[in-house]
Amino acid sequence: MTEEPSEKKARVEEFTGSCQRNKVIPRAVLADEYTRQFETVEAFAANIENKTQTSELIRKLNDAFPLKKLGHLKRVRCVKTEKDSVIQIILHEKEQDLDLRNTLVEQLEQHNIKADSLGQPFVVHVAKHPPLTRNQFTKASVCWPVNFHEDKYISKVIRGELFSDIEVLLIEKFMRMAVKAAQNSDSEEFAVGAVIVNPQTDHPIAISHDLRCTGHPLQHAVMVCIDLVAHGQHAGAWELNCQATDGTWALKEPNKQQIEQNLNSVDCNTCLHEHNTSVSRSSSRDPHKFTNNVEEKKESLPYLCTGYDLYTTREPCVMCAMALLHSRIRRVFYGCADNVQGALGSRYKIHTQTGLNHHFEVFYGILEDDCRHLLPNCEKGFVEKVKTA
Ligand SMILES: [Zn+2]
Repeated sequence: MTEEPSEKKARVEEFTGSCQRNKVIPRAVLADEYTRQFETVEAFAANIENKTQTSELIRKLNDAFPLKKLGHLKRVRCVKTEKDSVIQIILHEKEQDLDLRNTLVEQLEQHNIKADSLGQPFVVHVAKHPPLTRNQFTKASVCWPVNFHEDKYISKVIRGELFSDIEVLLIEKFMRMAVKAAQNSDSEEFAVGAVIVNPQTDHPIAISHDLRCTGHPLQHAVMVCIDLVAHGQHAGAWELNCQATDGTWALKEPNKQQIEQNLNSVDCNTCLHEHNTSVSRSSSRDPHKFTNNVEEKKESLPYLCTGYDLYTTREPCVMCAMALLHSRIRRVFYGCADNVQGALGSRYKIHTQTGLNHHFEVFYGILEDDCRHLLPNCEKGFVEKVKTA
């Protein structure tokens, strides 16, 4: 693990109220497809000798030799020469361990494609994967023209423009709440805090810290937090010493007083209320629609954390990540990576597994130093895998 260069932390200056502060932009943990190294593969191409036959050749070659693995390529390109220009066309994907050069003319003839309308086949290096980002598109286009349909949302994520200044303040506020909760953990080794928030109301639903040393080995801060949400929905797997204060479920003694202090101290940012905004209100969940009838409540409830966001000081492990997935969390914000067990960027990227039936967004690097300092034994820095495109 290496320390991420400070310039990569994407700090921008921001003026808030009467004080200057550094704003840390939450960085997204994207699927590997967005961040992978650029790769090329070989394909056969040829000059088109008679340009008037270009359309017909494209049609015939698309029928005879469709580009199954290289569907992102444009079939032809125009190469400017000193006096004129040449149109080149992709003839065939180059099969692995099979050089078709000698039989290509024969194959073209078999598909009623006259070889004399084409120049001598040659090998070109083209982009192996379809471009998903503008950066990938730029690199791919240097090799051979490619199709690219820009995902505006992903582009905003990559540019670090997804969150407004006010939204970042809110993200920091909830992470600060998680940091303070972590200080209640029963062991310095597992000083981890978690907060689950309803982004529609900016209200914390549950606040927890790690209990694995004095409670149960599975009571990681995130697991406890999810169970506290369940307590608020008249369920819960564990008998936690907890209670609700103003709609926020939190562990009681010995830290009730401190949790209340945490809530009060992080709510002091009046500028947030003045702007009357939230991290995002696109979620459709309304936790206040519950009735007094317990059975009716159970039937009408969505999954435990539908539409909710999680803030946690340390990257969740596989168990916690799967619990978040099963409870249908909407977004996860974490402070520092766990390069040993981290399942949302370091060791694994569970949230990007296409075979799973729920996906959530993951952002990291919020109050990173504060979160890491909670864990003196934790190795410093982020792993290389955790990076944006
Ligand atoms: Zn865990």
